[in-house]
Amino acid sequence: MNKCLYDMEELKAPTLTIEGLDQRAPVADKTLTFNTEQQAYAGQLLQPLHEDDPALRKESFPFDFADPKYMHPVALAQTLIKCMRAYGGVGLSAIQIGIPVRAFSIGYDKQNQVFFNPEIVATGTELDKMKEGCISFPFCYAVVERPTHIRAHWQNEEGVDQFGDFSGFTARIFQHELDHLNGIVLPDKVGKLSWKLIKERGAKLYKKALKLHERHQTP
Ligand SMILES: [Zn+2]
Repeated sequence: MNKCLYDMEELKAPTLTIEGLDQRAPVADKTLTFNTEQQAYAGQLLQPLHEDDPALRKESFPFDFADPKYMHPVALAQTLIKCMRAYGGVGLSAIQIGIPVRAFSIGYDKQNQVFFNPEIVATGTELDKMKEGCISFPFCYAVVERPTHIRAHWQNEEGVDQFGDFSGFTARIFQHELDHLNGIVLPDKVGKLSWKLIKERGAKLYKKALKLHERHQTP
């Protein structure tokens, strides 16, 4: 069994963290060119794809640092963090905001980190169950069983290889987001009947939230 060597503390290591990325100056790397209009939206809020959008069920393309077709990696990192925070998530994959590349962000408390071309190279044998939510499926929560410890490999926004061991909450988010990059979404993790019930419960929660919101709007 792989022992977890590092925990959330690892995310705080200076070489791994891109805390405060939003405050960075605009990207000045002129060696990279862009060929889609997506780059115009760097660091801005992009609308999440609708839960029925077929793009959410497709595998994302490897992120090519030599030819980042959709967005400069630093700009993409900024965009992911901004959208993740704005939509109240603790993780966000690029495809959820319509960018089909293998990249996602994880962020909670005051830490944010973006992972390019992430993969799990080893998992521990211990499993745990936890309720997961997803920005793509608002108000829906499903209990999912996943390994507690993972060893991961990824690239940072400069294309430099990184390795790390994660456990608990971080490991869970990492696995949830990696699923997105492979076109696997929350409904796929539970049975059809369970998902139907989750959706019904979600609709009730939404109605309740709407009422509460309207009450606050009424003078
Ligand atoms: Zn999700």
